[in-house]
Amino acid sequence: MDSNLYIYNTLSRTKEKFEPLHPPLVGLYVCGPTVYSDVHLGNCRTFVMFDLIFRYLLHLDYKVRYVRNITDAGHLEGDMDEGDDKFAKKARLEQLEPMEIVQKYTLGFHDVMRLFNALPPGIEPTATGHIIEQIEMVKQILNNGYAYEVNGTVYFDVEKYCKEFNYTILTNRQLDDLLENTRELGGQNEKRGRLDFALWIKAKPEHIMQWPSPWGTGFPGWHIECSAMSSKYLGNSFDIHGGGMDLAATHHTNEIAQSQACHHVQPAKYWMHTNMLTVNGTRMSKSKGNGFLPHELFTGSHELLSRGYSSMSVRFFMLQAHYRSTLDFSNEALEASDKGFKRLINAYSLLEKLNPSHKSDIDLKSLTERCYAAMNDDFNSPVLIAELFEAVHIINSVYDGKTAATSDDIEELKKLMDNFVIDVLGLKQESNQSDDMGKLLDFIINLRSEAKVNKDYATSDKIRIGLNSIGIQLKDNKEGTTWNKI
Ligand code: AMP
Ligand code: ZN
Repeated sequence: MDSNLYIYNTLSRTKEKFEPLHPPLVGLYVCGPTVYSDVHLGNCRTFVMFDLIFRYLLHLDYKVRYVRNITDAGHLEGDMDEGDDKFAKKARLEQLEPMEIVQKYTLGFHDVMRLFNALPPGIEPTATGHIIEQIEMVKQILNNGYAYEVNGTVYFDVEKYCKEFNYTILTNRQLDDLLENTRELGGQNEKRGRLDFALWIKAKPEHIMQWPSPWGTGFPGWHIECSAMSSKYLGNSFDIHGGGMDLAATHHTNEIAQSQACHHVQPAKYWMHTNMLTVNGTRMSKSKGNGFLPHELFTGSHELLSRGYSSMSVRFFMLQAHYRSTLDFSNEALEASDKGFKRLINAYSLLEKLNPSHKSDIDLKSLTERCYAAMNDDFNSPVLIAELFEAVHIINSVYDGKTAATSDDIEELKKLMDNFVIDVLGLKQESNQSDDMGKLLDFIINLRSEAKVNKDYATSDKIRIGLNSIGIQLKDNKEGTTWNKI
C-alpha cells in the first residue's frame, strides 16, 4: 500500500513519509482523558483531531487498531509525584466512590464524543484494569537496572538512563536546562535524582485506591499506564502515538524512557502532537478554570458566549485549523464557522437535486487530487476545506443551471463529498436539517402545490415568500418543487 501520506513526526521534527511497520495494519495509541471531571473543549479538540487522523487512515484502507485509554487512577495533583490523588479528592468532594467518579465522567466523555460524531476507538483500556501489566513492567525495569525502590515506592533512575539513551529525544531540550528548571530535592525526598519519576507509589493508609504489589500496597505512577497498555494491545513497537502537545515534555518523554528501559525499543515510530485550544491566548485547562464545557457551548450558557452553537459547527470550527496550530476560541470565529458549515452541508444536500446535462463544464479530477494532496500533507484539514468550497461553488452553480455537469460528473461530485465531508471530516447533517425538516418542508410544498392547482395564488405566494424570509428558497421546475437553504 503506497498512500503518499506524510506525517509530521515530533521525534524527527520533520514531515516523514508514512510507512507503517506491518501494512496494511496500523497501530494508533492516543492518550485519553483523565476522568475526574468533565472534559473541556480543549480536550475535545485533541480527540476530534485524532478522530480526523483515524478516519483518514481508515479511508486509505489501512486496518487501524485504535487504542485510547481512560486514565482512572494514579494521577496526582502535582505532576511531580506529589499531592492528592485527583480521583480520591473529587470522590470526597462529591461524596462518591472513586469508581463512581470514573463511571460518571467516562459516560459524560462518551456522550460528548458521540455529539462530535467522533468514531469510538477499537479498545479503550483503563489504568485500573491493567494494574498487573503495570506491575510486571515496573518489575522488568527494576530487573534491567533502570529503577530503584525506596520504602515501597519505585523510582525511574533518569541519570542511569541518560548514560545510555537520550532522555530528551522527543523535545530536544537540553538536559542541563531541564535540571535547572526542576525543583531541588527536598530533605525528605526519597528520589536520588531531580528528574527521577515514580513508577509505583506507596499508598498512605487513607488512600482509597491501592493495590498489593511486590513493594507493598500502592498505586501506579501516571506514565506507566500508557506504556503498559500500548505494548499490551499494539506490541512493544507500533506505528503512531499521539496526544496533546502538553504531554510531550513529561508524559511522553517518560513513556519513551520506560519502554526503552523495559523492552529496549522505542515504542512508537511516529509521535504526533496536537496543539492547544486557547482562550484569549491562554491554554484552556481544567486547573486554570477557563475551560468551556461542551454543553455550555451547545446551549450558549457561558459568559464568554453570545449564543449556542451546534456540535457540528464546533467540529467544523476545530477542523478549520491545522492540528499543529493553536486555535483561539472567539465568538466571531465560531460565528464564521457556523456559516461555513451550513454552506458546506447545504451544498451536500443539494447533490440529490442536481439536473444532469449532456455536456460538462467542470474538472473534478484535479479537484479530487487536490483534496487528497491536502490530507496527505500531514492531515491538512483547513486546506481540504478550502478545496471543498470549490466543490460547493460547483454544486451551487450546477443547481442554478449556470454550469453544466453530466450524470457521471454528478456521481463523482457525490463521491467526493461523501468521502471527504462525511467520511474524513466526519461532518453530518444535523437532525433538524435532515429528516424532520425535510418531511416538514415536503408537507408545506404539497400544500402550496394544492393551492396552485386551485388557482389560489395568494396562498402559494404567501408560502413561498414566508419560507424565503426564514432562509428557505423554493425552486419550481419540470419535476416539481425543490428547496434549499439560503
Ligand atoms: P487530560 O484529561 O488532562 O489528561 O487531557 C486529555 C487530552 O487533552 C490530552 O491529550 C491533553 O494533551 C489534551 N488537552 C488538554 N488541554 C488541551 C487544550 N487546551 N487544547 C488541546 N488539547 C488539550
Ligand atoms: Zn498517556
